[in-house]
Amino acid sequence: MSPTQTAHLMDGTGTARRLVEESAGRAAELVRRTGSAPCLATVLVGEDPASVTYVRMKQARCAKAGIESRRVQLPAGTTTAELVAALRDLSQDASVHGILLQHPVGPHIDERAAFEAIAPEKDVDGVTMTSFGAMAFGLPGFVSCTPGGIMRLLDEYDVDVAGRHAVVVGRSAILGKPAGMLLLARDATVTYCHSRTADLSAYVREADIVVAAVGRPRLIRGEDIKPGAVVIDAGYNAGNVGDVDFDTAAERARLITPVPGGVGPMTIAVLLAQTVTAAYHQLGADLDRAIV
Ligand code: NAP
Repeated sequence: MSPTQTAHLMDGTGTARRLVEESAGRAAELVRRTGSAPCLATVLVGEDPASVTYVRMKQARCAKAGIESRRVQLPAGTTTAELVAALRDLSQDASVHGILLQHPVGPHIDERAAFEAIAPEKDVDGVTMTSFGAMAFGLPGFVSCTPGGIMRLLDEYDVDVAGRHAVVVGRSAILGKPAGMLLLARDATVTYCHSRTADLSAYVREADIVVAAVGRPRLIRGEDIKPGAVVIDAGYNAGNVGDVDFDTAAERARLITPVPGGVGPMTIAVLLAQTVTAAYHQLGADLDRAIV
């Protein structure tokens, strides 16, 4: 990477580190005030190696931030009813403040039913319909972590999105759709693109802010980036490649996230921040700072 490109990198690793440090400070303060540390329960069904790694990473990050974690490992053959029961138990367990169901959970499980078994006040991953609805209405609640991380990164780099045209490529319920809604709530003019969009390039060329959330390596070409645009690449594909062709896009963008080291680290950082916030609420401690 050339020095000129480095100048406009959006550093997710550093931003996430600061957010985790802030969460660690809030967690320590909670212990001082209540005697209890925040606790995140991670629920894993089966032993898919990637999922095992993700859960382990999240637990390690929790430990660094002074957040306790409880790992619930269920066999691959767990039924929807069994998973729902386990999540309801955790929802009722006063010593657990946040619940993360590592997904995907496998095709034999009704994932939506499982997510909905998570009590909204413990939904620190922002996956329930209640959390989504609260976000859509602009009400307090936990946001889906990756879109929350994207907004935090934009704030870190003082990107004023009001009145800007944001083009979000991808419309999944956990990423593209909420990312667009959070941008809309900040007064951006939002266009969603997806697999049925005719002439994706034409939309991307008009974007002041591009959010790539697809899962197709280098789908977004540098030649389509408007000079001076802000480019957020949430995609993560085999070989550490994003959805944006980084080298060519970096020549035109004002700000751009690298892959890795951009959006990725922000996701876990928001999960931890929201876990601490959930613990403050549940332990009745005053919460004097916003979360994301
Ligand atoms: P997903 O559920 O598979 O959704 C992909 C979206 O991209 C869909 O809306 C799909 O459109 C759209 N799409 C597919 N092909 C397209 C094309 N050729 N042109 C335009 N749009 C297209 O994936 P996801 O869970 O949202 O994840 C997207 C990417 O983000 C993946 O690379 C994933 O690894 C990454 N991710 C990263 C983090 C992180 O922490 N950094 C977290 C979550 C996900 P349709 O709706 O029409 O099918």
